Amino acid sequence: MRFLGLQPRAAYAKSAPPFHETGRNYQERPNLVGRLEGTGRGRVMLNAHVDTAPITDPQAWTHPPYGAIVEGDRLYGRGALDDKAGIAMMMLLAEVFQEIEHAPELLFASVIEDEDSGNGSLACMEAGFWTDHAIVLDGTWPFRAIDSHLGQLWLHFEVPGVAAPSCSWARAVNPIDLAFQKIAGLRAWVDEQNRRMPQWLEIANPFFLSIGEFHSGSWAGSVPERAQVSLQMGFPPPWTPESIAAVAREHLGDFRIGALCTPPHTQRPNRPAELLRAQVDRLRAGEMEFRIQAVTGHCDLRNLRKQDGSLAEACLYGPGGGANPHVADEYYLMSHFVPVAQNVASALLELIRS
Ligand SMILES: [Zn+2]
Repeated sequence: MRFLGLQPRAAYAKSAPPFHETGRNYQERPNLVGRLEGTGRGRVMLNAHVDTAPITDPQAWTHPPYGAIVEGDRLYGRGALDDKAGIAMMMLLAEVFQEIEHAPELLFASVIEDEDSGNGSLACMEAGFWTDHAIVLDGTWPFRAIDSHLGQLWLHFEVPGVAAPSCSWARAVNPIDLAFQKIAGLRAWVDEQNRRMPQWLEIANPFFLSIGEFHSGSWAGSVPERAQVSLQMGFPPPWTPESIAAVAREHLGDFRIGALCTPPHTQRPNRPAELLRAQVDRLRAGEMEFRIQAVTGHCDLRNLRKQDGSLAEACLYGPGGGANPHVADEYYLMSHFVPVAQNVASALLELIRS
């Protein structure tokens, strides 16, 4: 950013409201916001995230996770798709837009913790980098923009058992069995909700429960002392993290709310998404139908605000296609980079001129 003359400023999250409590230290983890000063009114932000999902099993990768191996059109590596390509595209656009005159102020935000807390984008807002419009460059293919996502909640809980040798199972209480009973109860509730509300926007079965971590025991010879479980729940409106947590408590007992805790988000009609659609239709007529849709995941759209605190007009688009975000063999399709950057640039020009 400095090289491009953007004079980046750092914005730090804190361990106090309005930030989501994560127990993490934010002191050496800046969000960076570069600026191109505008002559017009208002602000437009491009936003991409530098945090990545962890590597759970290096053995499962056919290419080294931090190798950035190029094979044909694919660039393999953790974060290649989600969201280093978004950061690279944001830098390319920052360079291109230096030439533009009569534009509103343009902000380029490189943020942390999009994958869970959203505290990075929130820190930018708290530091005064509000915006009227935004495109978040993250997680979408060239013919798709995202205006809505499910609510999400991470829950961590522990199930105590009564330990004993396996052969004395009759006087033991197995915490693994107990944990799965609790999860089965909550999953039955999720299934029931999907029967009652089988669709939200473009999402079929909009309630989900996914177990991401399960730790217990060390060998077959013992009933273990305890089980530790982390899971993610997704849900549509009118459910909120609070109302979902109340239901979960009935099934799981005590738990700790994790770093991901967001209400469902929707902003429809969505001006940046409509501008993208118009530009993609114009530039790539007949290639594929452009869709504006909701996703089962989440992103930082909820934290992007105007100066008066209301939601910025924002959507998720770019940096293009690939596969396997969050899991082994993540890759980005490099041939998408230039056309998708062109699509964003054209939409930004329209936004600036209108
Ligand atoms: Zn992402």
